[in-house]
Amino acid sequence: MEFKNEYLAKVYENVVKRNSSEPEFLQAVKEVFESIELVADKRQDFVDAGIFDRIAEPERFIMFRVSWLDDNGKVQVNRGYRVQFNSAIGPYKGGIRFHPTVNASVIKFLGFEQTFKNSLTGLPMGGGKGGADFDPKGKSDNEIMKFCQAFMTELQKYIGADTDVPAGDIGVGAREIGYMFGQYKRIRDEFTGVLTGKGLHYGGSLARKQATGYGLCYFTREMLATKNDSFDGKTVVISGSGNVALYACEKVYQLGGKVVAMSDSNGYVYDENGIDFKIMQQLKEVEKKRVKDYADIVKTATYVEGCRNIWNVKCDIALPCATQNELDENGAKELIANGVKYVAEGANMPSTPEAVEAFLNAGVYFGPAKAANAGGVATSGLEMSQNSMRLSWTFEEVDEKLNGIMKGIYKAAYDAAKEYGCEGNLVKGANIAGFLKVAEAMKSQGVM
Ligand code: NDP
Repeated sequence: MEFKNEYLAKVYENVVKRNSSEPEFLQAVKEVFESIELVADKRQDFVDAGIFDRIAEPERFIMFRVSWLDDNGKVQVNRGYRVQFNSAIGPYKGGIRFHPTVNASVIKFLGFEQTFKNSLTGLPMGGGKGGADFDPKGKSDNEIMKFCQAFMTELQKYIGADTDVPAGDIGVGAREIGYMFGQYKRIRDEFTGVLTGKGLHYGGSLARKQATGYGLCYFTREMLATKNDSFDGKTVVISGSGNVALYACEKVYQLGGKVVAMSDSNGYVYDENGIDFKIMQQLKEVEKKRVKDYADIVKTATYVEGCRNIWNVKCDIALPCATQNELDENGAKELIANGVKYVAEGANMPSTPEAVEAFLNAGVYFGPAKAANAGGVATSGLEMSQNSMRLSWTFEEVDEKLNGIMKGIYKAAYDAAKEYGCEGNLVKGANIAGFLKVAEAMKSQGVM
């Protein structure tokens, strides 16, 4: 049996039956259930209200065809998704991912996780996620626009500023959000905050771009502080070199640490003198090049093929910021053998369950994604507030609120773990704290 609590074991068995071909989704549900088992033991009222039976079943799952014309006039067909997972505490909120690996399982795992993450931020946002199996790599700007317009033509039927507010994720940045916002406006004839991550000139929030990476470092700073430690003089490894990774890199330097390695899906660059944030940002964000090109520009850096090898690099702090299951047990063992002290997840579910187990057993202080990377969606929540009030805050105001929210998330996770007898286990603490708020709201609102 997977769980000691018999009732929860039965519920999980049903989840497996219903979603047997969805490994990522089952992985995410199992991880959360392992934590909230402690709640199921204590809260018969939640059991009676069927909260556990309902929590892993999305309120709505939409799948649709996206047809568009490429630059050669040829018809292309992709599959689009939106999961509206849970609206107990607010409108559905969660990013849109464009990547060839997107499927129902990936979207559902992300939407499920998002529900608890959004709850942890303390802001009124439910959980959702969406995307398509579209690969933006190698597409012209015109093709990206055509695809975004076709995607939104269908998606617009299901979203709205008070019902479901999507944002960006892998493969979806300010450019894609702009094209999708334009199409929504054209079809619905309304200018509302229906998407976040918008450009600054039409309702976007300052510091949204930086928020996930900055927030990750604010969260890590709280982890360090618990151990009477700080970023000062620490060596940091960051996987990925996209939006989250880049701004985590910038903030590490601002807090006194040094980033010695970064990667993309082909390989990683290492420089013991530290990766130059400005050069990496220019390469990845502006010129859309590969990390391999970094080593051509910076002579002290070396490039190594194979992205998983990045975990062989010695560091005090590891921040996986690329994608799900990128850090497995072998990677975790390498990091532990090389003396890693802290791991905080910037990407969603980057560590496999075996890797998490290895970190916890080795006494590595571990910050799980749904708490550590919640800064992005928190700042999306702040963008929604600014849009509703028709005003905009300064970069410093948003950044300060973000820092306050990350401190609050850390405290909520830490305190919940302590209350439920597993002090220092932020995985359990984050799951429990995130779950409790959603569960109370679901109970109050009756069976639906
Ligand atoms: P981007 O598309 O901006 O960047 C993704 C980066 O990861 C790219 O550098 C990509 O390289 C790299 N990558 C992909 N697969 C691997 C791999 N196996 N090993 C190493 N590098 C890899 O995405 P984001 O930065 O926005 O998102 C990264 C993660 O953070 C995702 O899990 C996302 O869900 C999560 N997240 C993002 C938030 C946001 O605000 N953007 C908020 C919260 C979570 P390549 O170019 O080779 O594909």
